[in-house]
Amino acid sequence: MDRVRLTGLQTIDFQSDLDRKALDGLKKLPLLPQLVRKFYEIGADRWLYCWNMAVSVRVGPNQYPTLHRILEESCRTLDVPEPELYLTSNPFPNASAGGVERPYITLRSSIIDTLDDEQLYHLIGHELGHIKCGHVLYFSVARILMPLLEMIGRRTLGLGDAAQLALVAAFMEWSRNAEVSADRAGLLVAQNFDTSLAANLHLCGGPNRLSHEANPDAFLDQSRAYQDMNTADAFGKLLIAFLYSMWTTHPMPVHRTQELEKWHLSGEYERIIQKYGVAPAGV
Ligand SMILES: [Zn+2]
Repeated sequence: MDRVRLTGLQTIDFQSDLDRKALDGLKKLPLLPQLVRKFYEIGADRWLYCWNMAVSVRVGPNQYPTLHRILEESCRTLDVPEPELYLTSNPFPNASAGGVERPYITLRSSIIDTLDDEQLYHLIGHELGHIKCGHVLYFSVARILMPLLEMIGRRTLGLGDAAQLALVAAFMEWSRNAEVSADRAGLLVAQNFDTSLAANLHLCGGPNRLSHEANPDAFLDQSRAYQDMNTADAFGKLLIAFLYSMWTTHPMPVHRTQELEKWHLSGEYERIIQKYGVAPAGV
């Protein structure tokens, strides 16, 4: 399809207000600068980069060129510099963005079997959204340091229980909202709500023999029903979202589907396409 190229697109155009506010709140916590400093001191960004490269195939014009072409066009569409792209063998379909100094996206092999090419545009757009919104540093800090807080926190960082809880709560709040922004980027690249919906549906249901029976409309109804669940469930939802998001960058597809539908219906998506759309993003 002819994708509209969003030259000059700004993060503020699509980043969720809740994501921005939660990230500002996170940055104001006195503990966060300590964690970020520690992250750099121990060279964790480099560790993660090297580890990823050790277990993944780097995609390029001569290595899985279809994926490389989708990446190139997605970057042109969203107006972001091209990160490195990797493919790694893993039976659980997912993807992640990493690398503060050298951004990269890693696709798990099963995601290629789970999504068609158009849906991969949404997926890669989602990961580019994380990079463009500056999420990667905080995801990386959380991934490396949060699980170790209990072990190293008191000795190395001098953290108390209350401070740790405040930090974990702030991360929980932010990480869920960060996904909402990234999904909007996914839609801005896919440029078709049904494609983004199908991508979320197949991420949620996973690859299976009966995937041709998957019903996007029923999935959308399910996501609306989930959104309407009473507030007594709110904390449980938040907790699960956080625990899940520690190891994947696509947590809570049902919740996110509803957030994406609301944004699409708000007219913001169309406004951005009209404002920045200048030419097809293809060659
Ligand atoms: Zn994500």
